[in-house]
Amino acid sequence: MKKLLILGAGTGGTLLANLLSRKLPHKEWEITVIDKSPEHHYQPGYLFLPFKLYGYNAKEDIVRPVREPLPHSAKFVQADVYLIDHKNRAVHTSAGNFDYDWLILGLGCRIAPEEVEGLEDAMNKNAHTFYTLEGALKMQEALENFQEGHLVLNIADMPIKCPVAPIEFVFLADYYFHLKNIRDRVQISLVTPLTGAFTKPVANETLHRVMDEKNIKVVPNFALESVDADNKVIKSYTGETVSYDLLCSIPPNLGPQVIEESGLGDGIGYAVTEDKTLKSKRAENTYVVGDCSNVHTSKAGSVTHFEAEIVSENLLREIAGKEPHPDYDGHSNCFIETGFHKAFLIDFNYDIEPVHGTFPIPGIGPMSLLENTYLNHWGKMAFKWVYWNLMLTGRLPGDPLLPIRMSMSGKKLDEIKQHGGH
Ligand SMILES: Cc1cc2nc3c(=O)[nH]c(=O)nc-3n(C[C@H](O)[C@H](O)[C@H](O)COP(=O)(O)OP(=O)(O)OC[C@H]3O[C@@H](n4cnc5c(N)ncnc54)[C@H](O)[C@@H]3O)c2cc1C
Repeated sequence: MKKLLILGAGTGGTLLANLLSRKLPHKEWEITVIDKSPEHHYQPGYLFLPFKLYGYNAKEDIVRPVREPLPHSAKFVQADVYLIDHKNRAVHTSAGNFDYDWLILGLGCRIAPEEVEGLEDAMNKNAHTFYTLEGALKMQEALENFQEGHLVLNIADMPIKCPVAPIEFVFLADYYFHLKNIRDRVQISLVTPLTGAFTKPVANETLHRVMDEKNIKVVPNFALESVDADNKVIKSYTGETVSYDLLCSIPPNLGPQVIEESGLGDGIGYAVTEDKTLKSKRAENTYVVGDCSNVHTSKAGSVTHFEAEIVSENLLREIAGKEPHPDYDGHSNCFIETGFHKAFLIDFNYDIEPVHGTFPIPGIGPMSLLENTYLNHWGKMAFKWVYWNLMLTGRLPGDPLLPIRMSMSGKKLDEIKQHGGH
């Protein structure tokens, strides 16, 4: 019996277990999935919990048992992965050692508040993060008690997973305070190490316009050095300070320690990965999917989905004795909630930044790219059902409805030249 070992039963690990259990003959292949958590979280729901919006009120609204979306034919082991001994093709865990023929790393990333002076202390006082379930629920309580003052969202460092989530948070905060009739008593700021709200010029310009309309201040180029919870101040390495009454922190995001300690990482825990085949550059017979890879595209569920399809194809090719295809183009696709039941939709890859256009059918849509519409918002609302029923199970439609490799049709690519981009 040949052995496929999948580390992580999050978005990427679960999806690949489903895709490959349908393609690999059960009599020849044993698929084992290992994860330390008994739960699978729908992480996009962390964004809505602090505001109790759109039916996201409590833990039950986003959590399912980890076994539920996994295929019956795969074995699940709940264990902490301690070491990947790739030279001997074995993985050491709290439930013993597992050897493998092929390995998939889908271990996600983690927040590391301990990396910033004073941030852990602040997170017990007047700072919270919605990047964990626990943090999102604490933020819910803090917002319920917040009646006036300065709400500051600070991104400590890049990269972070779902880089649009902080932007969505400040937009939803604006909407939430309007609903509570206290918007005029609250200032909202987005304090970021980036040069603007978003990195890509065309989308950045559009998002800044909406920030201005909603009276949300953007403080760019702020590399966080420390947090002083007692005086409610964040300080940058250049000495700039911003005072807050309530801090929403996105702490540094690091890759899994086990990837680094096993010699597969880039120095901050992300697995060093070939950007087009998605193979590990450090270990044989190993593919990488999702947030734990160091490829230069967003860390997002949509990216994890597109990558998983490529990993599945390439792994099957290699098992059949063929070369993997260098096919992954960095495709990423995200909704950006703006409050008042509207959202943007962006679609981009390694080379092409988000521009205006229609999606998925060129010239028809029905979704609009880089436009703030009701339909995009309802697309995001539908994503939860799509996630549990189609995405994790590996049953999303591919071309032409949801192409794995980004389609250029329906996109106003000349906007990139106008902004001097490429
Ligand atoms: C607030 C927020 C909002 C988001 N919104 C969106 C969105 O709107 N759209 C979108 O596309 N994406 C969104 N994302 C991102 C998306 O959730 C992730 O990109 C996606 O889940 C990544 O999948 P993954 O499989 O790489 O990692 P994960 O799904 O995080 O899974 C990693 C798994 O590895 C396990 N693990 C880690 N270390 C170990 C270990 N040592 N031993 C055993 N198990 C281990 C963990 O328990 C976990 O189950 C959002 C994320 C956040 C935080």
